[in-house]
Amino acid sequence: MERKNAWKSYTPDQLDQLEDLAAGYIDFISQNKTERECAAAAIRQAEAAGYQPLSQAIQEGRALSEGDKVWAHTHGKALILVHVGSRPMTDGFNILGAHIDSPRLDLKQNPLYESKDMALLDTHYYGGIKKYQWVATPLALHGVVAKTDGTTVPVVVGEDASDPVFCVTDILPHLGYAQMEKPAGKIIEGEDLDLLVGGRPMVFADDEGDLTDEQKEAQKAPVKAFCLQLLQGKYGISEEDFLSAELEVVPAGRARELGFDRSMVLGYGQDDRVCAYTSLLAQLAVKNPRKTAVTVLVDKEEIGSVGASGMESLFFENTMAEVMELAGQGGLLNLRRALAASSMLSSDVSAGLDPLYASVFEDKNAAYLGRGLVFNKYTGARGKSGSNDASAEFVARVRRVMDDAGIAFQTAELGKVDAGGGGTIAFIPARYDMDVIDSGVPVLSMHAPWEVTSKADIYEARKGYEAFLLNA
Ligand code: MN
Ligand code: MN
Repeated sequence: MERKNAWKSYTPDQLDQLEDLAAGYIDFISQNKTERECAAAAIRQAEAAGYQPLSQAIQEGRALSEGDKVWAHTHGKALILVHVGSRPMTDGFNILGAHIDSPRLDLKQNPLYESKDMALLDTHYYGGIKKYQWVATPLALHGVVAKTDGTTVPVVVGEDASDPVFCVTDILPHLGYAQMEKPAGKIIEGEDLDLLVGGRPMVFADDEGDLTDEQKEAQKAPVKAFCLQLLQGKYGISEEDFLSAELEVVPAGRARELGFDRSMVLGYGQDDRVCAYTSLLAQLAVKNPRKTAVTVLVDKEEIGSVGASGMESLFFENTMAEVMELAGQGGLLNLRRALAASSMLSSDVSAGLDPLYASVFEDKNAAYLGRGLVFNKYTGARGKSGSNDASAEFVARVRRVMDDAGIAFQTAELGKVDAGGGGTIAFIPARYDMDVIDSGVPVLSMHAPWEVTSKADIYEARKGYEAFLLNA
């Protein structure tokens, strides 16, 4: 049984909608390359759509009723949007979940050093990357520096056309004989993913006697000193401020249309912002939901969903408890009943069938670019280990919702049996005994600096998510 390619069925009107969506998406992932940037952008869009801060409603003790829309965040990195429906919350929520963190290089706490007349920033990579993909390509720096005076300085360098960029260097082939003999996982070592950030020394007066102690110290590493002087001038930050910074090294530059036919998108961080963005738009578009509509955008998925801003955090449960309390449906038992009765699409990118690497896929159960939203009944590895396996009854319900709304969808596994495997956040909310299924958009070159998606799948995801919020 083969699923149809969605491109074959589009009307001119639908193609216009598809292109509008893709253009907005390309802007979103070009402008928002960290979990903080994604959360902040999502909050701005939510407020423009009438969402109010849940914290304010709590403070004012304002009751929530049908049609009310609130947002809550934690640490600026994870976000929950709630649109109160007409039915009692104990009938369950319809929930969309996706993650807004992506693989990258994080600066270490003590990152800056000088070697051989060059200044570098030491990094520790985040998430599952192929290290050799991150060398000899333009990189940008995004993040925040939190200072002891309580202020937080945002930093973005390498995105504006007038900005400088950075890179991790690689050895020339002429001297790379030994390197090229190594297995791919060792070609570039984690400790060698250091960012080249400076090559010009600070110049000091000829007469040593006039130098202060600080200047004498700086003279030992003048390239580093010059970088620090520039950082102090532009951001008001000192070397010690790196201790309390979150600075992420990401591919520099905008996402682009891909292919002669412009049918695809090449961009950084599409895992999983392609699902996060389409879930966000669906949540903001939904009108008069019967069941309360919820979208959860979380951090830390790429390192195991741990920490305060990951799906394992109590942020989700606490937020829903607050919402139910303000809706006059509070109490632990009500909360447990509501969560157990809920339905969720745990959305994350699927491995798209790559013609160059078709041997690791099983054709009948692979995700094809252009065939629409993907559902994975189960994920896992080595005999489905670690998988949330959605019940057959829930899969049937999701099929009906998608069919009724005319959504192009397909089902898939993550590659051939025993070829590898993986999983995402589905098993975590499933602990509440709710129905959860993995879904998402197929992607090529997942976790590479530049990933590939199809505009058709983005379009089907956006529509499919709205249909789920309304009718699941
Ligand atoms: Mn993911
Ligand atoms: Mn991932």
